[in-house]
Amino acid sequence: MARLLLRGRTLSFLRWPDAADDHAAYRYEEDGGLLVDEGRIIAAGPYERVAAMAEGARAIDHRPHLILPGFIDAHVHFPQMQVIASYGAELLDWLNKYTFPEETKFRDAQHGRRIARLFLDETVRHGTTTVAAYCSVHRQSVEAFFAESHARNMLNIAGKVMMDRNAPEGLRDTPQSGYDDSKTLIAEWHGKGRQHYAITPRFAITSSPEQMEMAGALASEYPDLHIQTHLSENHAEIAFTQELYPWSRDYTDIYEHYGLLGRRTLLGHCIHLSEREADALSRSGSVAVFCPTSNLFLGSGLFDYQRYRTRAQPLRIAAATDVGGGTNYSMLRTMDEGYKVIALNGEKLNPLASFWQITRGNAEALSIADKVGTLEEGTDADIVVLDARATPAMRLRMETVTTLAEELFLLQTLGDDRAVAEVYVAGSPAKSMLG
Ligand SMILES: [Zn+2]
Repeated sequence: MARLLLRGRTLSFLRWPDAADDHAAYRYEEDGGLLVDEGRIIAAGPYERVAAMAEGARAIDHRPHLILPGFIDAHVHFPQMQVIASYGAELLDWLNKYTFPEETKFRDAQHGRRIARLFLDETVRHGTTTVAAYCSVHRQSVEAFFAESHARNMLNIAGKVMMDRNAPEGLRDTPQSGYDDSKTLIAEWHGKGRQHYAITPRFAITSSPEQMEMAGALASEYPDLHIQTHLSENHAEIAFTQELYPWSRDYTDIYEHYGLLGRRTLLGHCIHLSEREADALSRSGSVAVFCPTSNLFLGSGLFDYQRYRTRAQPLRIAAATDVGGGTNYSMLRTMDEGYKVIALNGEKLNPLASFWQITRGNAEALSIADKVGTLEEGTDADIVVLDARATPAMRLRMETVTTLAEELFLLQTLGDDRAVAEVYVAGSPAKSMLG
């Protein structure tokens, strides 16, 4: 693979940005360079300094565009590409009416391979280089996803959904088969290239206590794996969960009881948490995943981002699309809606913090910040190139933009896949290869 020398306005975050003028929170080079070799960033800094080390490298000039770490989507369902934009239901009806029938199709391996290919095309098109994905209950859906991800050399996290009740025939495993299939997939895929396996009980409603035991057994056998599930999304779901686990103090207590909380646990939604539940997440280091377009679309509620972040026992937070409950593959669109959700809670999210969240913030939440989420030397070269003048309306608005924070806010508010000029996956151009 040829060495690449990328030139453009490079931006990489060092920590959470407290305000739109918190310049110490990031590293920005107006004329920046990145030297990429063997899939890694081996030099980053002012262009002249990096170029001096880049003899023989192929130079690609992205000026005047911004060069950032590729976006990370911390919660998404790849089998729901043909569920997105389904009208008129709240969570439980939406699952039964649209999602479960659609996921049943993934029994067919060929269907799974087709959708996995189109799904990763779509994430790359939108500037996302890493996802934490739910597959379907079928082992072949996970094989399809990882095969496609591995062929593209992407760093992705995914797992077989475990679900053995409250779902139609053809979409249920058993405690034993869910456990066995998960183990087979872990052996085959976890640590193969850049692939990471996640233990994936869908949520407490679709898993029997016996299956939750098995998920907990996997978690203790494989402590370095991610765990992903859903928590506290809507009121009907919470009430039903309480009926199914009458001994539990609250929804969170169920996952706690089965040993499923911890620093690698990703909990989708977490909208209606009690103080006790939030404390339990904080103590265990579990991650609350903010999915604004999904929460608005299904009418689930408003995630209280700033309160969770600043409470006495703060929560670790990630941001995600949750396609197909979510309505867009773009992390820019996601944070635009996120900004509005946070505004409805009486707070603001500054633009620097927003871009920190979908790069380094999500990488830290997923415990992969040593590999992705920054432009630091030694990390994997997963990169997005952003064009803040991608449309006539953006170009016009850019005439009045004077700061980096304003430009980022414009990208978030008006931008989508059109603003993604190029994407590099492990140092190789990926978006321009889509055709
Ligand atoms: Zn979800």
